[in-house]
Amino acid sequence: VSHESDVIVVGSGPAGVHAALPLVEAGVSVTMLDVGNEDERYAPLVPDLPFGDMRRSERAQHRFLLGDELEGLPLGSARVGAQLTPPRGHVLRDVPRLTPLVSGTFRASESLALGGLGAAWGASAVRFDAGDLAGFPLSEGDLAVHYEAVASEIGISGSRDDLLRYYGECASLLPPLEADPSVTHLLRRYAGRRTRANRRGLYLGHPRLAVLSRAHAGRSAQSYHDLDFYSDRGRSVWRPAVTLDRLRGRAAFSYARPWLVERFDEPHDPAAVVVLARDPKTGERAEFRARRLVLAAGTLGTARIVLRSLGLYDTPRPIVSNPHVYVPCLQPSWIGRPVASRRHSLTQAGLIFDPPAGEGGLVYGEVHVYGSLLLFKLVRESSLPMPQALGIVRELLSALAILVLEHADEPAADKSCTLRRSGPAGADALHVDYREPDAARFARRRTESALLAALRRLGCHALGRIDTGPGSSIHYAGTFPMAAGEVPLSVDRACRLRGTRAVYLCDGSFLPRLPAKPLTLTLMANARRVASELLREVL
Ligand SMILES: Cc1cc2nc3c(=O)[nH]c(=O)nc-3n(C[C@H](O)[C@H](O)[C@H](O)COP(=O)(O)OP(=O)(O)OC[C@H]3O[C@@H](n4cnc5c(N)ncnc54)[C@H](O)[C@@H]3O)c2cc1C
Repeated sequence: VSHESDVIVVGSGPAGVHAALPLVEAGVSVTMLDVGNEDERYAPLVPDLPFGDMRRSERAQHRFLLGDELEGLPLGSARVGAQLTPPRGHVLRDVPRLTPLVSGTFRASESLALGGLGAAWGASAVRFDAGDLAGFPLSEGDLAVHYEAVASEIGISGSRDDLLRYYGECASLLPPLEADPSVTHLLRRYAGRRTRANRRGLYLGHPRLAVLSRAHAGRSAQSYHDLDFYSDRGRSVWRPAVTLDRLRGRAAFSYARPWLVERFDEPHDPAAVVVLARDPKTGERAEFRARRLVLAAGTLGTARIVLRSLGLYDTPRPIVSNPHVYVPCLQPSWIGRPVASRRHSLTQAGLIFDPPAGEGGLVYGEVHVYGSLLLFKLVRESSLPMPQALGIVRELLSALAILVLEHADEPAADKSCTLRRSGPAGADALHVDYREPDAARFARRRTESALLAALRRLGCHALGRIDTGPGSSIHYAGTFPMAAGEVPLSVDRACRLRGTRAVYLCDGSFLPRLPAKPLTLTLMANARRVASELLREVL
């Protein structure tokens, strides 16, 4: 079978849909190739009720809370991907079988779903600033108009508070979501002690989220039902499926699945790139031809396709991933208050720790509250017997916050990914080796201690520290970094892979390093930028 279009985009994640949209709107024909797994089972079961009412009244709740195969009961550690409830289970489905990854040091999460990892993302959407992009061949100005275009498409809520200078401007910013009362209490304490907190480097404010606080483009405002980890009803949280549905309404767009892309080839015909893909269900193979190919298969997925296509087995590539820790915290002054029934499930407050010069790097933080992910998962983290622990956690719940902290990451000698023919019958697998240098690990522990000391002065006390290990931030980049000069296996400013005529990488592959910020808004803005470069070439 052979199919033709102007541009092929591989992957329907946040980057893929934002590469496709401007092309299709300009009349360019786009075929999106994707495995495209979806949840057909649980979504219709989740009722349109607040979480507490649902727990009291819904007869089928065990199905979507625990799963038909009890897949919602974590057997190992509950910490990584705790948000991946049974209705989100399809996000990781088929990955070990179809895109294997081998590592003893790196916990990678990849997706073959419609929407990719974006089908489960937490929607924190902040810009990279000039400091974050220092040394890149790309400036803040190159991305600015694309950040704004993405924000208008997806809808971003937040406020212009103390975090504005870290999160960046957003002309279409919607009002912030309502915060949980315990977090509003923390924000009030911060406001009363702002000058001293800032002197220590601590800044708090409303989070920047791709979640609607007002109805927009056929999507509903946030319902505060605390079911965001289970259901996309009303679509207040932006997921790639929102934009994919818009694309699917256009004649110039075709969504082809299930196709697992194996490799590309650039034959002698200078006007074409050929993509070879396999139907993972039937094993049938097909060829797709286009004038340009955009790979948006996720940093790890794209690395597999590129290295296999170029025959570069056993050739290590750099990789970076934000170090990531959880810190359960208690605000003793809030103990005994009732747990709010009206709340959303995503980040409640944003935090930046920007210590004085010479006292460590910037840390990005999110304040979460705990509830709809079910208490038994939290209780398993304590060393007490289950019945006693459950009683204690219930008493403390309204005063409990879970802090998520993220640090920057730089390439280093011990951080690499390599495609090897290590599977059965010569099948390949991506091998990741990731060791953080001791000095870097100690430095970030010191910075975290200073951050937690500053937070303690606001009455918020750390109860522990859970380091889920490399890879668990689910932010990956750095495999084919953008370079100004003719560096082999780099991408140029347009994100064209050097050594190819027409292959563009628009997921995290192009970022040479990761600042201490979530990367996905930047991936989407850059994908639009890549599309605008293609429009100049293809039209
Ligand atoms: C629980 C969770 C919370 C997160 N929270 C945040 C957050 O708050 N903020 C943030 O910035 N980031 C967050 N992330 C990370 C974010 O989801 C990713 O950065 C983002 O999805 C990456 O987008 P992408 O388009 O590059 O790739 P992906 O989302 O990984 O999409 C890859 C796409 O490629 C397809 N694909 C892969 N291989 C092939 C192949 N061989 N053939 C065909 N198709 C293929 C997949 O089916 C998929 O459609 C979170 C992730 C998770 C899981």
